[in-house]
Amino acid sequence: MSASDRLAGRLTEISGSVVRAETSVSVALGEVAHIGEEGLLGEVIALAGPTLTAQVYEETAGLAPGAPLYVTGTPLQVELGPGLLGSVFDGVQRPLERLAVSQGDFLGRGQRAEALDRARLWEFEPRVPAGADVGPGTVLGVVPETLALEHRVLVPPHLAGRVQDIVAAGPRRVADVVARIVTAEGAQVALSLFHTWRVRAPRPCAERLPAAMPMITGQRVLDIFFPLPRGAAAGMPGGFGTGKTITQHQLCKWMEADVIVFVGCGERGNEMTRVLRELPELHDPRTGRPLAERTILIANTSNMPVAAREASIYTGVTIAEYYRDMGYHVALLADSTSRWAEALREISGRLEEMPAEESYPPYLSSRLASFYERAGRARTPAGTEGSVTIISAISPPGGDLTEPVTRHSQRFTRCFWTLDKELAEARVFPAVSIRDSYSEVPEELEQWWQHQVAPEWTELRHQALAVLQEAKHIEGMARLVGSESLPERQRFLLRMGSLFEEAFLRQSAFDPTDAYCAPSKQVRLLRLLLRFRDRGVRAIGNGVSARSLAQLPVVVMLERAKSSIGPDEMARFDELESVLDQQCDELESQLGGRAEDVPSPPPPNPSP
Ligand code: ADP
Repeated sequence: MSASDRLAGRLTEISGSVVRAETSVSVALGEVAHIGEEGLLGEVIALAGPTLTAQVYEETAGLAPGAPLYVTGTPLQVELGPGLLGSVFDGVQRPLERLAVSQGDFLGRGQRAEALDRARLWEFEPRVPAGADVGPGTVLGVVPETLALEHRVLVPPHLAGRVQDIVAAGPRRVADVVARIVTAEGAQVALSLFHTWRVRAPRPCAERLPAAMPMITGQRVLDIFFPLPRGAAAGMPGGFGTGKTITQHQLCKWMEADVIVFVGCGERGNEMTRVLRELPELHDPRTGRPLAERTILIANTSNMPVAAREASIYTGVTIAEYYRDMGYHVALLADSTSRWAEALREISGRLEEMPAEESYPPYLSSRLASFYERAGRARTPAGTEGSVTIISAISPPGGDLTEPVTRHSQRFTRCFWTLDKELAEARVFPAVSIRDSYSEVPEELEQWWQHQVAPEWTELRHQALAVLQEAKHIEGMARLVGSESLPERQRFLLRMGSLFEEAFLRQSAFDPTDAYCAPSKQVRLLRLLLRFRDRGVRAIGNGVSARSLAQLPVVVMLERAKSSIGPDEMARFDELESVLDQQCDELESQLGGRAEDVPSPPPPNPSP
């Protein structure tokens, strides 16, 4: 409890994480409340006449009617400043000791812990002189937050004025005053290395920018078939064992993001513990250092109160927006939105609200929309560019993609990566279903690929999809009539489908060469496979059998190219193409076929 707390009333009812009190003082919706003698952290979520309803972010066992409820006059806020990177927080930004969490333990009730370590010293270096005019988002100074990232100390949103004084370079604590600003109205505002922001309110940006480039993931099936624009939101539904965790690890490691915010709402305590243990220990291929140095974890296990889980995605996205405002590209991974929605459902039930579909509250859809809408590419208040890209894992019960969380997520995301149980059972990873996934590909994104990687990117992509679709179609026919009765051309195209799956779609997270595939290599592989398709179709026309094409030694080389050709060996793709041509020529000449020229693909662009 702090001195500013006011007694609002005494509890009349306790229902799980929701409490009610009768109050005679004026209270605002969204005010932070402290409940009971222990001062449990809560938030006022409904006001009806004298009845105040609050959700409690801590375990309410032991609370009894008559216990006091205090209000604080401030909304739920997060602290934004150096020290966020590498930290593990709960849903309301209390710092969790990683070890304590892994033992199924968490902070004691009513325990106030500041999110940012007040004792730690940071090497502050000022970037503006005294007398400078500053506005929202102006970089006052910088702090090396980790070896991987420079933290920019910003003038908070909505504040502008003239710098009266600013400290010299040197070690500072987060709460030390580093600058004083005088506003146009003559008010003096002291600024430290951090400021606070309301979790439920989006941080303003100067301008929202349209998608212009992809968030490269290094995963072929995603980058080529279902590309994610930087600053967009993606949904990733998948049942147990379909590779959600591994895919998220892959994204954390390889996505072109400066900062990763991982919001975990695990189903079981041990699932979250696995993430907490494994994620920060991952090796960051960009820096050669632990991934923790550019990662922030927000952890909720199912044994933590549901209200904290409900708040966690807002806490996460607010932190993501803060790094966006510094001019960084941030990826927020939420695992899983379904668990978050279940928290919403439980709280709504306790509030005795009229349930809508599958007992979710009627506002499920608008809450999901307001979360996904916080993704975006933006001009920062200081005029640079940053982005928040959201990737939300969804765990539809029984894999039913028509359930409300999946369906609503589909409405508000531009990209949907459906992980398929059958593919996972067949060990085809990443198990992204071609049939059930989609991505809106804006023109700007196509242009990025065309200019940076390959002028014929769109064509390659369509052709590759056509190969896969045709193979699926033929597979269906083969099931009816038997593959022996298929014409040679169709037999070959069927084989092409499986070659594509093996040589292109499959990508093992554990293959040191192939775990990440650069855009230029993705395109080289595609070109080569499509060339084989063209050469094969022509050879069949000249009387070659599908079987002899499938038995060409080059087929195995194509299957292995993803792993056998390293990122710095692009010239080996040219060699492979010559081998391919030579072996096809030989096959045709054995049959006396005419070697009409198959046009060579255009030369590759320099890799981005
Ligand atoms: P989920 O989190 O959906 O339950 P996991 O991510 O734990 O599933 O994946 C289950 C198993 O599938 C992993 O242990 C791994 O063997 C395999 N797997 C998933 N994705 C990949 C991948 N990209 N590369 C290789 N193996 C994978």
